[in-house]
Amino acid sequence: MTVSDAPFLALHEPRFEGREWEYVKDCLDTGWVSSAGAYVNRFEEALAAAAGTRHAVAVVNGTSALHLALLAVGVERDDLVIVPALTFIATANAVTYCGASPVFVDSERSSLGMSPDAVQAFFEECDEGPRGPVHRATGRRVAACVPMHTFGHPVRMDALNEVCERWGVPVVEDAAEALGSAWQGRPCGSLGRVGTLSFNGNKIVTTGGGGAITTDDDSLACRVRHWSTQAKVPHPWRTIHDEVGYNYRMPNINAALGLAQLERLPELVARKRAIATWYAQALAGTGVELCAEPEGAASNYWLVCALVPEGRRDELLATLQAGRVGARSVWDLLPEAGLHAGAVTCPHPAALELERRLVSLPSSPQLTTEDVARATARLAP
Ligand SMILES: *Cc1c(COP(=O)(O)O)cnc(C)c1O
Repeated sequence: MTVSDAPFLALHEPRFEGREWEYVKDCLDTGWVSSAGAYVNRFEEALAAAAGTRHAVAVVNGTSALHLALLAVGVERDDLVIVPALTFIATANAVTYCGASPVFVDSERSSLGMSPDAVQAFFEECDEGPRGPVHRATGRRVAACVPMHTFGHPVRMDALNEVCERWGVPVVEDAAEALGSAWQGRPCGSLGRVGTLSFNGNKIVTTGGGGAITTDDDSLACRVRHWSTQAKVPHPWRTIHDEVGYNYRMPNINAALGLAQLERLPELVARKRAIATWYAQALAGTGVELCAEPEGAASNYWLVCALVPEGRRDELLATLQAGRVGARSVWDLLPEAGLHAGAVTCPHPAALELERRLVSLPSSPQLTTEDVARATARLAP
């Protein structure tokens, strides 16, 4: 087989091998396709079980889940919200939707996620105020902290929770990439005051498009569910709305797809962990370093990633792409982008190094050992 007819190895493709057809057909046969129906409830119950929380509220995507989670913990206009410098844009966009501004902090090489020490260092630039810490330089209140579990590798949540608790700041876990991952035996999505998930087409479980809020807090779950349905007050015939709500509820047809996907989550995680070990074996001793799950964590290895030698990232990515291997660099750091010029930004040397050296590798659950050999042959010949 020549390079030109080798199949393109995408970063992450969905696979429908369970009861997806059956459940989606059921929606079409019964006419229950939209924002009410039994699959939404069943999907939420299965999700709460998978995330280890009392509640899960299904919404239209992970970004809207973050938006509602931030509102639910009390983020208001002009507040500050701590986010990692190294994350997908959605984490910061949700902060902007609330009229608040992000504070960018450093990541850790070991977890690829938010550094609890960097968060502590930022709090030392704050004074205690009546409603939470107030940042001395801007006079703005710090209303939430949003760690993100990069590519499925959990943040050091015990240390981070301890720092945030000391300062009275609620933790919103952006677990979009980490369904099926765990920290100290507890599932990601259950490790903060509230968690958010994404079921976009490239995530480990997909609903086409979708997201969810996970929490143990009964009243928070209730508020979020209310806001996601245009804040409509239940009534047999009248249409009453008691607040400004959002049209964020997940449709039944998406939940049907998601339920079938979720039934296979343990199998998907097992396959992805096997793929990570194939990559690790192929890369051992090559100078390209596979990012292994941090100590104390069990990663879903949503996207397998590796650190390449300084200065070689773009050349290696061009070689991979030329061989029809869809590897990519990590996100450009948010504080370096023009969009957030002027945001409060803490020193972030580790995030800068990760940005220069990280590549994510094809990680679809259906990948074979031959596919992995083809990718690593170009990455570390
Ligand atoms: C995918 C993702 C989101 C947002 O999810 P959507 O469903 O695409 O809105 C948020 N944060 C992170 C880190 C993600 O990877």
